[in-house]
Amino acid sequence: MKNFSHIIIHQALVILFGFFNKQLLLTGIIFLMFISSCGGQSIPAFNKQNSFQYLEKQCEFGARVPGTAAHLKCRDYLVATLRNYTNLVTLQPFQTTMPTYQKPVTCYNIIANFYPNQTRRVLLCAHWDTRPWADRDPDPANHRQPVLGANDGASGVAVLLEIARIISIVPPNFGVDIVLFDAEDFGTYGQNDTWALGSKQFAKNVVKNYHPEFGILLDLIGDANQEIYIEQNSYQYARSIVDKIWNIAQRLRIPEFIPEVKYEVYDDHLSLLEIGIPCIDIIDFDYQHWHTISDTPDKCSPESLDNVGRVLLTVLFE
Ligand SMILES: [Zn+2]
Repeated sequence: MKNFSHIIIHQALVILFGFFNKQLLLTGIIFLMFISSCGGQSIPAFNKQNSFQYLEKQCEFGARVPGTAAHLKCRDYLVATLRNYTNLVTLQPFQTTMPTYQKPVTCYNIIANFYPNQTRRVLLCAHWDTRPWADRDPDPANHRQPVLGANDGASGVAVLLEIARIISIVPPNFGVDIVLFDAEDFGTYGQNDTWALGSKQFAKNVVKNYHPEFGILLDLIGDANQEIYIEQNSYQYARSIVDKIWNIAQRLRIPEFIPEVKYEVYDDHLSLLEIGIPCIDIIDFDYQHWHTISDTPDKCSPESLDNVGRVLLTVLFE
């Protein structure tokens, strides 16, 4: 009796296992047919909480103003974080003078390369420094305070660090160069040559045979109340990239990307456009805390980082 029941159980298990196996096989075949009918690899998920932690972490150092201890600590943090994801992280130091307090400072562009043998390349960039003066603050008493830059600085970097993590695990269709520019934000309003010093430095030193297919700059993309209009210079000088990005956003049903041209912004993308790299600026210039002491993490949201991160991942993996 004992032996007999053992045989029945064994037989039942063989039948059941065979059934589930066939089911699994069938599911696998259907999945593979679905993937091949999509014509490309699947797009990895963007982890918005992870990205938001990168934003908060940068702000914990305080304002990242060149010439301060917080600036150096954040530089080391960004380098160490990127080195978790690629061995190819380099610093591009340069000397400059802060215009209003005439102080010579050392600034650092941070460059991280992924899949250096890939000939098709994309440049992704953002500035990591923050403005020394909150000179748009409604209270003039704050105009000499530095800007914490949760949105203006940390948000673009936060998305790129999360992209770095993802592409270190799953190779995208392109080789990727992530460049974090320093010294973007201590310019004088109306004087273009005093802004975007890091990208000017990068452009001046770029190797002759470096020809990324296109570049995407992120700036001020973390506002919880996000509205990303098309920036005028991007539209004028890199229209096909603009079309690509806003079309993807529309397909992904991200209404925060608004397909209308609005502001003209002098930003790091101009330095790249000037040396022939078609680069657009994804920027949400409707940010009421811009250059005020209120540009803090509570004005930003993981969902806004996610919107931009998902669009970028689609560009890289589709
Ligand atoms: Zn700024």
